[in-house]
Amino acid sequence: MEKRYFQPEYETMPLDELKKLQDEKLVRQVKRVYENVKYYRDLMDKKGVKPEDIKGVDDLHKLPFLKKDDLREAYPCGLLAAPKTECVRIQSTSGTTGKRVVAFYTQHDVDLWEDCCARALVAAGGNEDDVCQVCYGYGLFTGGAGLHGGSHKLGSLTLPMSSGNTERQIQFMMDLESTILCCTPSYAAYIGETLKEKGYKPEDNKLRIGIFGAEPWTEEMRRDIENNLGIKAYDIYGLTELSGPGVAFECEEQRGMHINEDHFIAEVINPETGEVLPVGEKGELVFTSLDKEAFPLLRYRTRDICILSREKCSCGRTFIRMTKPLGRSDDMMIIRGVNVFPSQIEAVLLNSGYAPNYQIIVDRVNNTDTFDINVEMKEDDFSDIPINITNKEKALQGAMKTMLGINPKIHLVAPKSIERSEGKAVRIVDKRKRLGINV
Ligand code: ADP
Ligand code: ZN
Repeated sequence: MEKRYFQPEYETMPLDELKKLQDEKLVRQVKRVYENVKYYRDLMDKKGVKPEDIKGVDDLHKLPFLKKDDLREAYPCGLLAAPKTECVRIQSTSGTTGKRVVAFYTQHDVDLWEDCCARALVAAGGNEDDVCQVCYGYGLFTGGAGLHGGSHKLGSLTLPMSSGNTERQIQFMMDLESTILCCTPSYAAYIGETLKEKGYKPEDNKLRIGIFGAEPWTEEMRRDIENNLGIKAYDIYGLTELSGPGVAFECEEQRGMHINEDHFIAEVINPETGEVLPVGEKGELVFTSLDKEAFPLLRYRTRDICILSREKCSCGRTFIRMTKPLGRSDDMMIIRGVNVFPSQIEAVLLNSGYAPNYQIIVDRVNNTDTFDINVEMKEDDFSDIPINITNKEKALQGAMKTMLGINPKIHLVAPKSIERSEGKAVRIVDKRKRLGINV
C-alpha cells in the first residue's frame, strides 16, 4: 500500500535533520519568550538561565517548568508572547478553582494546529474525498475546532455537527454518507450502541475511520466501537495549553501515538523530582512548543503519565511515539470529556455554605460517564422536610454546572455519614477503573 502523509517533508524527516530543526527553533523560541513574556523571564532569571545558555535541545533541561498553577497565576494574558491585537482566536478548558485555561492563537498558530489535525486524519487513511463528521464539542472546547480545521485543510467535506443530538447525528451520517467520525470514544460507543438498537448493521453505514480522543479509553472499547460501527478506530491526543487535539496521533501501526516533533519537544520527567528520564522510562510528559506565536509554553508539565519510544515505525514517520496516558500525576478527572478538579467542587461547596465534606463517585454505564456527588448537609438541614432538601440539591447542582460545565447528580446525605479513613475522607471513587480505564 502506498504510504500517505499530509506533510511528508516533516513527518518523515531524518532524525539528524529533525534534531537540527528543533535546535534552531528552540533557540529562537526561548529568545522570543524571554523578550516578550515577563512571567517566564522572571522564572528564568530566578533560575539564573539566560537565553544564550540555550544552544539547542540538549540544553532544554536548564529551563524552568511551567505548571497549571502558573497558568492560573498568569491568567488571562500573562503568558501572551504576541500582542493581543495579533491574536485571532481563543480556546479554553476548565482549570482549577474557577479560573479557566485560556489559550490564544495567531493565524499562524491556528494553521499549525490544523496541520497537525490534518496529519492525524491522513495517518488514519483519510483523504480529500472523505466526508468527515465532527461531533466533538464546538465552542471554547478545542475538539470541534481542531478536527474541523484539519478536515478543511485536507479538503474533506466537513460536517460541523458538534456533540449531542444523536438522532440528528445518525440522520446526517446516513443521508450524507459520512466516512470519518471524529468524537470522544465514549460518544462513538454511544452512537454505535444507538445504531444497533435502531436495527442498523455495521455495513449499513459508510463510515470507515474514527478519530477518537480527549479522554482515556481502552483497547476493549476500541474493539467494541470498531465492531459496532464497522470502522478502524484511531487515537488522538492533545491539550488546550499546546493548541488542542493533534499534538500526537496514531498511524496504521497503532503502537503508540506519533508526537508532532517539528512543533513540540517531548520530555518525560520524574514527577516528584523533576529529573529528566531516559526515553523508555515511565513518567510525566512535558512539552515545549517550538513554533507557536501567541501562547508558546516552554517545558509545560501535562501531568499525564506515559512512556516514549524511539523505535522505528513501519509507517515511515520518524516522530517519537508516546503511549496512551497511563494515568495522571494530579487529581484531575476527565468526566464526559470535561476536566474536573476536586478543588472546583470544594470551591462551590464553600461558596454555597457547605463544609467540604463530600465524595465524588464516577462510573461508566452504557458508555456514558455517571457523575454523582454526595455532600454532607449542615446539622440544621438534617431535620428539613424532603421537598426542601430536593430544592437544595437542585440549587447545588446548578452551581456545580456553572463551575464545571457538566451536571453532577447531587445527593445531600446525613452529617458525618461520609466515611473517613485516618480522619480523611476518600474524595474520589472512580469505578471506571474496573473497566480497565487509566483514570
Ligand atoms: P482535550 O480537548 O484534548 O480534552 P483538554 O485540554 O481539555 O484537551 O484536556 C487535555 C487532557 O485530556 C490531556 O492532558 C489528557 O489527560 C487528556 N487526553 C487528551 N487526549 C487523550 C487521549 N487520546 N487519551 C487519553 N487522555 C487524553
Ligand atoms: Zn507510525
